[in-house]
Amino acid sequence: MEAIINSLNHNRTAESRLSVVLPIYQEGSHIKNSIRMIENILVEHHIPYEFILVDDGSTDNTWSEIVSLAKENKHVTSVRLSRNFGKEAALCAGLDYAQGDMVLVMDADLQHPPALIPQLVKAWREEGYDVVEGIKNSRGKENFIYRTCAKFFYYIIYKTSDIHLGKTSDFKLLDRKVIEAWKEMPERATFFRGMSAWLGYDRKQIGFDVAERVNGKTKWSLFRLTRLAANAITSYTSVPLHCITLLGIIMFLGSIILGVQTLFMKFSGKSTSGFTTVILLQLFIGSSIMVSLGIIGIYLTKIYKEVKARPRYLVSKCVRGGETKC
Ligand code: UDP
Ligand code: MG
Repeated sequence: MEAIINSLNHNRTAESRLSVVLPIYQEGSHIKNSIRMIENILVEHHIPYEFILVDDGSTDNTWSEIVSLAKENKHVTSVRLSRNFGKEAALCAGLDYAQGDMVLVMDADLQHPPALIPQLVKAWREEGYDVVEGIKNSRGKENFIYRTCAKFFYYIIYKTSDIHLGKTSDFKLLDRKVIEAWKEMPERATFFRGMSAWLGYDRKQIGFDVAERVNGKTKWSLFRLTRLAANAITSYTSVPLHCITLLGIIMFLGSIILGVQTLFMKFSGKSTSGFTTVILLQLFIGSSIMVSLGIIGIYLTKIYKEVKARPRYLVSKCVRGGETKC
């Protein structure tokens, strides 16, 4: 036990190694340049490092590019997932392979500025923070619909779980003990940003401006984003389920009032009209039930997936230290 605690409270020195984890999907055209840029900064600031490049089942030349990087550079480990599992799963794979004293997670498209890395490392090494996270000063170029949906999503998360995610990003540096704590979380469907906020620890936030993508285009369609949002909200909170109960109570109170009125009309001999009311009630009740079933369904699906307990990702190939290891 003592050995474990000692290993968790390791020293933070200039020799401490940084693992840079990059989830990569269809970024073959510029991945080598991105790595070179990040590496130059690390070398310039004398930060010992390793790269964990996770190819999330790309169909372009991403894998051949990162394999050649891993073969010529002993600091690079390249991992290929057996298919496209999504960024969250790719991140999990990266965190599992990382061996450094601290782990930095960033996007492969250089939207997270590499120039900030020395500052993040300094906050970890000299100021003793366990989590140093990049906070978006501005959200970069996004269209109106995207921005409105994102705002709505963060608002719901904040209202239901009291966690501010609005300006947070996946650009984070985590201490080894935070990574070990993360690995203790058993859920299959992960939401890195939210789950790492849940972990706590001493945190520092550093602002950055989201750069433009170097090349290629974003992989987040509105459909994928909606799925991510539904997953994130239902992972966090059961408030939507309680909303259904609340809706039921409100409708019950309404039905008492309407019931009394209906009976009154009947006994006073004026009960012929009311067709419109019946139709409106039918429509309202019908749609409420369907939405409620849908919400319950989302939770049920989540439980179903968690119960199946399938692995978060599958690795098909891996090159570490210049050699194929798996
Ligand atoms: N990504 C991934 N798997 C996916 C989609 C994206 O590993 O299925 C990676 C992608 O290569 C990039 C990061 O996740 O490094 C962020 O993706 P993207 O730039 O498309 O998202 P955005 O910056 O638009 O939110
Ligand atoms: Mg991006």
